[in-house]
Amino acid sequence: TSRYARSIEMHQRACQVMPGGVSSPVRSFKSVGREPVTVKSGQGAMVTDVDGNAYIDYIGSYGPLILGHANDTVLAAITKAASRGSSFGMPTEAEYQLAVKVIEAVPSIEMVRFVNSGTEATMSALRVARAATGRSKIIKCIGCYHGHHDSLLVEAGSGCATQGVPSSPGVPSDTAANTLSVPYNDAQALEAVLDANAGQIAAFILEPIAGNMGLVLPREGYLAKVRDLCTKHGVVLIFDEVMTGFRVAYGGAQAIHQIKPDLTCLGKILGGGVPCAAYGGKRELMQHVAPQGKMYQAGTLSGNPLAMAAGLATLEQLQDGKAYELLDATSHSLALGLELQAAKAGVPIQINRVGSMISCFFTSEPVHSFEDTCRCDTKRFTTFFNAMLDQGVMLPPSQFETWFVSLAHDRQAIERTIEAAGIAFQAVAESAGSEKISQS
Ligand SMILES: *Cc1c(COP(=O)(O)O)cnc(C)c1O
Repeated sequence: TSRYARSIEMHQRACQVMPGGVSSPVRSFKSVGREPVTVKSGQGAMVTDVDGNAYIDYIGSYGPLILGHANDTVLAAITKAASRGSSFGMPTEAEYQLAVKVIEAVPSIEMVRFVNSGTEATMSALRVARAATGRSKIIKCIGCYHGHHDSLLVEAGSGCATQGVPSSPGVPSDTAANTLSVPYNDAQALEAVLDANAGQIAAFILEPIAGNMGLVLPREGYLAKVRDLCTKHGVVLIFDEVMTGFRVAYGGAQAIHQIKPDLTCLGKILGGGVPCAAYGGKRELMQHVAPQGKMYQAGTLSGNPLAMAAGLATLEQLQDGKAYELLDATSHSLALGLELQAAKAGVPIQINRVGSMISCFFTSEPVHSFEDTCRCDTKRFTTFFNAMLDQGVMLPPSQFETWFVSLAHDRQAIERTIEAAGIAFQAVAESAGSEKISQS
């Protein structure tokens, strides 16, 4: 029987009671044409499935687990918090402590509001921008993903890119009509849309480093130009750093590129693997948020004690900055190893990387935009993904998701990954060969 037998059986049962058998679409492994692996446990860089197969994990819960699975300190903090009660609906000291940490970490944030998911963070940040400007329209980048609320489920990345759903049924057309889209890394296109809609745009939201179409880095000068254009047009600039916050640097992408947005969205690492997110920014903007201002936004479980504890315990292990040097060194050697193995097998790839975020695109051309990512050979990715999985390496199951390296990935894990990649690239080369033969 298959070494994935229990996972397959579990998935079939789950499909009877949950759409696609999952709680979030990309988890279905649909875009790599197979059943998902059902996880039993994780420890450090490894996850183990219900069949007992172990994998070196590069999903990392899609970003939060920068310390690896079941980090001792984080576990202890969650356990201690849980023993004191899991939710109160009244303020706690831990919220104040994490707020202070966020403000110290992220240069542009003066006040912060905690929410439960990245989706809530971007939804609320847009509401602040609209409340503050009295304008309705917003601009986003094609291929950037900001969660699944209506205004931003237009030309979105992540699971939407994977499944070729640029916008979703169920999003009213008059909502979508207020969302304008421009290509990422194209300041001219942004300028044209701003000029054509002068006085009507509340906000421009983007991932400063795009991680939901695979990893795409900002071109030199792009973010500075974006900052200037938003200032000139009185448009609130929102950096969605749900993925990049505390990931590419302790202060996020804005610390690396030295650009101050007006509002910032955080999530993922912020909660150390427990549901948690936040939005924050300039005091004059955040003062619009109720009860200080009139813009309403609330949450029964927001600032949850378990999430605050996990977040604090995670940030404490990251704040001295050494973690990022280590992550960069580990990820650099992984990227080099992948390039070497691909070259050996004669498979053209493009590696995009910043710190511990990596994408391996199956294309020979550089990738700077969503349009570029669409030229990638997703069949080759699927072959590669499956060959890696069979060798005990868990990659995100889509060409359009970023790989995450954690502090628990040691040299041995990286070496094993590179070795497996050698075989997987070979498999890609062979299947590419057979594609050609079958065509002729
Ligand atoms: C993951 C992600 C979100 C959505 O966060 P959820 O917690 O899944 O709602 C929003 N923006 C970016 C950039 C993300 O990577």
